[in-house]
Amino acid sequence: MSRPRRYRPATLVGHLGRSPRKWLGAVNTPVLRASTIVFPTVAELHASARGEHPGLSYGLHGLPTVTDLQAAVAELEGGHAALAVPSGLTASTLPLLALLQPGDHVLVTDSVYGPTRRFCDLHLQRLGVQVGYYDPLLGGRIEREFRANTRLVFVESPGSLTFEVQDVPAIAAVAHAHGAWVVMDNTWATPLFFRAFEHGVDVSVHAATKYIGGHSDVLLGLVVGNEATWPALHRLWTDMGVTASTDDCFLALRGLRTLAARLDRQQASGLTLARWLRERPEVREVLHPGLPGARGHDLWKRDFRGASSLFGVVLRPVAPERIAAMLDGLELFSMGYSWGGYESLLIPTTPESARTATVWKPGGPCLRFAVGLEDPEDLIEDLEAGFARLQG
Ligand SMILES: *Cc1c(COP(=O)(O)O)cnc(C)c1O
Repeated sequence: MSRPRRYRPATLVGHLGRSPRKWLGAVNTPVLRASTIVFPTVAELHASARGEHPGLSYGLHGLPTVTDLQAAVAELEGGHAALAVPSGLTASTLPLLALLQPGDHVLVTDSVYGPTRRFCDLHLQRLGVQVGYYDPLLGGRIEREFRANTRLVFVESPGSLTFEVQDVPAIAAVAHAHGAWVVMDNTWATPLFFRAFEHGVDVSVHAATKYIGGHSDVLLGLVVGNEATWPALHRLWTDMGVTASTDDCFLALRGLRTLAARLDRQQASGLTLARWLRERPEVREVLHPGLPGARGHDLWKRDFRGASSLFGVVLRPVAPERIAAMLDGLELFSMGYSWGGYESLLIPTTPESARTATVWKPGGPCLRFAVGLEDPEDLIEDLEAGFARLQG
């Protein structure tokens, strides 16, 4: 079958990673539940153990929905190959374990997803890796943070909770000049809105739990490697046995089919809300890189193909009970961790508490919006009533 690389992303998400003729014409790859795979002859059993059998050898490696999802995402993002793992957090931590050795130094953005930071602090350090955090806005000036043993730079752009846009190409140029890998948490942009490998990233990781799954009912991670990092990633994935479940990959493939349509809509609704929020007297700042005039917008415009619908808002100083009154009474926005589903979420955040390399002083309490697929006018009405409660 020819590889439909010439098609645009919205077309690709519908066509990559499925082969109806293999499955009696069924459009979607079916869930094959299998641990044991049986062989009719000793010769075939042994060929399978040597990796020479054309079919499966064991359910841990290569069930059809898993391999189809991996192939689809690798091609969509332009990487060499991809691995499906049980969570986004596994996707973030696996490349660190695969690519770092005792005695190495890793540079991690100060705006990193909190649980990734905890993994670095507790487990990488325990294994003899030196962990340093850096200002996400350093760009090429990250060079001053490099040591002789720096082997990896972890970027996440925009940053978790604070949404700083990183100059990934500049960071990658410095990293590669020093013989270090660049691993990126690309969950916010998805493979559609940030072409990680074209910007110098060596490993792009995704919490497919978020936009790719898209329906708040699957936990899944994806690790996409380039050719150079692939052998180490694949080796560790195999040896740790951290494959994702066939059912979860089925759900992620189903989510992938509508990813472009959902993101288009969520991008538009997110920007509508961001513009409306910026005009509110209760709002000090909107942290949305896709919003003209907002922090990071120029860099976002240079490097990204779109903005997803997760963004922050800094309120003018107000008592915590007023914020609780606003949020508790919302009808359409729910409060909950995670994001990327079809339903809108809104939570208070405290990004300042996680920083060690930089000081985050927003000047007021922070909120995080995840805008879903509802009519944005209904969302605005829900927020309007919320701001009335905020004022008391
Ligand atoms: C949610 C999230 C993860 C972790 O995903 P899980 O599937 O919940 O483990 C990693 N990175 C970012 C940026 C996230 O928002």
